[in-house]
Amino acid sequence: LISRQSHPDRSIVRVGGVSIGPGTTTLIAGPCAVETPQQTLRAAQMARAAGATLLRGGAFKPRTSPYAFQGLGEAGLKILADVRGETGLPVVTEVVDAHDVELVASYADMLQIGTRNAQNFALLQAVGDAGKPVMLKRGMSGTIEEWLMAAEYVAQRGNLDIVLCERGIRTFETATRNTLDIAAVPIVQRLSHLPVIVDPSHSGGRRDLVLPLTRAALAVGADGVIIDVHPDPTTALCDGPQALVHEDMEELGAVMRGKSLWQ
Ligand code: PEP
Repeated sequence: LISRQSHPDRSIVRVGGVSIGPGTTTLIAGPCAVETPQQTLRAAQMARAAGATLLRGGAFKPRTSPYAFQGLGEAGLKILADVRGETGLPVVTEVVDAHDVELVASYADMLQIGTRNAQNFALLQAVGDAGKPVMLKRGMSGTIEEWLMAAEYVAQRGNLDIVLCERGIRTFETATRNTLDIAAVPIVQRLSHLPVIVDPSHSGGRRDLVLPLTRAALAVGADGVIIDVHPDPTTALCDGPQALVHEDMEELGAVMRGKSLWQ
């Protein structure tokens, strides 16, 4: 269903009036996790100033450690909806459990499936039934074939509004958190009609790599990027070291406008 054989032209996915796909380079930005109304609003304002048209932010956080901040749950979804009201930015947020799909879909404009759930087939089917666009991250140890088949699980439920997100894979390299598989972008665009975006924040796991990896993503033709921003990463409850700060936002805007691609 998602192959170029079944649909030769590349698709555009619409999220709350924002298009993702050929002819656009969409910036999705916001905090890794929703922490407070003020932090989320300030992150959204930073994102919008750089040209973001969609707000990201996790209310349900799939953390490696059960002792780490797990997200605010529904309270976080309410904050996201309020910030959407204040900024006009449609909301992309993760759902980690099939039982929560209806709840998350009642607040979100796009449902995110994270790397840890990339082959949670019951969850993929549930988001396929939810009537909202889906952003499907690649499993951290997933092949391109496995990633595309995961998207088929969503598509089989009659939902073809799927955006694929390359977010880095596990390799032997330890300098980065994950290795951004940049070749996956043109490969997947040739195999599937679905839009493909890149997450330079979770792939590198380092602030200093976010802009270089964004340039790389745009250079290979990604349909957009999703980026963590935080007004004060030293206090962040999740992934502070990879969050862009205020001073980075002007350059991010220039990169996104194609004005600073080759630095
Ligand atoms: C995220 O985007 O908040 C996230 C947890 O990403 P990933 O699933 O790619 O690790």
